[in-house]
Amino acid sequence: MRLRRKPWIDTAILDYADFVTPRGGDWSHHAGAWAEMFGRTAPLHVEIGVGKGDFITELAARNPDVNYVGLEAQQGVLYFAARKAAERQLRNVRLLVFDAARLTELFAPREVDRIYLNFSDPWPKARHAKRRLTSETFLTRYAAVLKEDGEIRFKTDNAGLFAYSLETMERAGWLLCDVTHDLHALGEADNIMTEYERKFSARGAKIGRLAARLPAGGA
Ligand code: SAH
Repeated sequence: MRLRRKPWIDTAILDYADFVTPRGGDWSHHAGAWAEMFGRTAPLHVEIGVGKGDFITELAARNPDVNYVGLEAQQGVLYFAARKAAERQLRNVRLLVFDAARLTELFAPREVDRIYLNFSDPWPKARHAKRRLTSETFLTRYAAVLKEDGEIRFKTDNAGLFAYSLETMERAGWLLCDVTHDLHALGEADNIMTEYERKFSARGAKIGRLAARLPAGGA
């Protein structure tokens, strides 16, 4: 998602400081302390690349017993997610302007129960494959922070990225389940649409979805 830089956002985002850690904010004390940060012990689910936050805010509203952390590299879009979280007073959501490449600095080993990836950038050129959020490099980071029975849940409209992800996960020893190449055909009542999911499916794109678990003993 590309947005023109909007300087007013850098100030406006501070209004939602109870929900979001802006660019340059201090997150160094969070690893291993997320339960403390939320003031309760609860499953910890993380979304990477939350965009404008339709998914994580609706998910958090529906699941008040789960603690949610949303990561997004671009402050210009995360602002809108923070506003939604604040409007709904979602105390179980914390958003951070954060590059997921540094995931293992933000979470302790086995601190995370689930990771959501939705409509991640496809990086179609082979020389950019390492930047894909389902590359082997990223999978290793996820394995480092996930609990033993933890899982990744991934949705995309991009057939190339979906095929690559299935293959990469399988090769790295993850157990694939809930795989479909046409999520909407299943008519699952609990599917929460993201901004991209709405946009692309309205144009007729099919949405792929998978879940992947670490095999017992870790990957
Ligand atoms: N999940 C949203 C947005 C999809 S676009 C939706 O489905 O509508 C992908 C988003 O991932 C972009 O906003 C981009 O800034 C973010 N992103 C890409 N790489 C990232 C990284 N390494 N860490 C955090 N966010 C990232």
